[in-house]
Amino acid sequence: MPEKQNYFSFWFLVLVVFLGFTLILGFLWFYNIFGTSVFINIFFLVLSLFLTTLFLILITGLTGIWFVLRKNKLPVIFQLPMALTVNYFFGFVVRAGEALGFSREKLQSNYINLTNSLVKNQDQRFWSKDILVLAPHCIQEANCPHRVTHDLNNCRKCGKCQIGNLSEIRKDIGFRLEVVTGGTAARQMVKKIKPKAIIAVACERDLMSGIQEVFPHPVLGVVNIRPQGPCFNTEVDWTELERAIKSLCKEVG
Ligand code: SF4
Repeated sequence: MPEKQNYFSFWFLVLVVFLGFTLILGFLWFYNIFGTSVFINIFFLVLSLFLTTLFLILITGLTGIWFVLRKNKLPVIFQLPMALTVNYFFGFVVRAGEALGFSREKLQSNYINLTNSLVKNQDQRFWSKDILVLAPHCIQEANCPHRVTHDLNNCRKCGKCQIGNLSEIRKDIGFRLEVVTGGTAARQMVKKIKPKAIIAVACERDLMSGIQEVFPHPVLGVVNIRPQGPCFNTEVDWTELERAIKSLCKEVG
């Protein structure tokens, strides 16, 4: 519940800031604070057109999100504004929220929850061969000498980390699994493999930037577990991973 409150108070704050900013600009223009030259008038005219367009995109995008979350469908008219809102405006919102003192991790986590809900509620399902599961290199046991980022078959399945289990699940279900060293490698992998859907395991920061970068691919983000701190011997949350596979994969669930 506190997370939800945090989320809604954050959104309320963003809307207040946006409206406040617009009102201040309107006031400055109306009372000719900066003079009445043609240049100033054109500047304010362009600015108000820009803000109005932004506001319309935002409202239509949020309506689209409401449709997906409440009605499990997305009318065509809302598709583009929702995509713009989620992939561009929300990035700005998270940065603005950080500047206003909100927890960055919570904001990113809210973003991932939202995009996950949007993907799940659109009820798209894919054959396992068209799904790419991306796992971060840091789930590999730090002292393991075997290089799995180039070839997963190098894993000896010794049980010291979850790579072995992941490879087994991959064989059983049939999805493509890649262990990547970071955001750039993940992006390159998506370009090379061209999956129809992605399940990505990573920290909040990498998931958020990754989801935005590979748009419009549907991505389900699974936040990793970090018992020894970030980027070191991290773990996959099996329950969340299983949920993600069930919601996307036609052959499972
Ligand atoms: S399970 Fe595989 S990747 Fe993990 S430590 Fe053992 S050999 Fe290395």
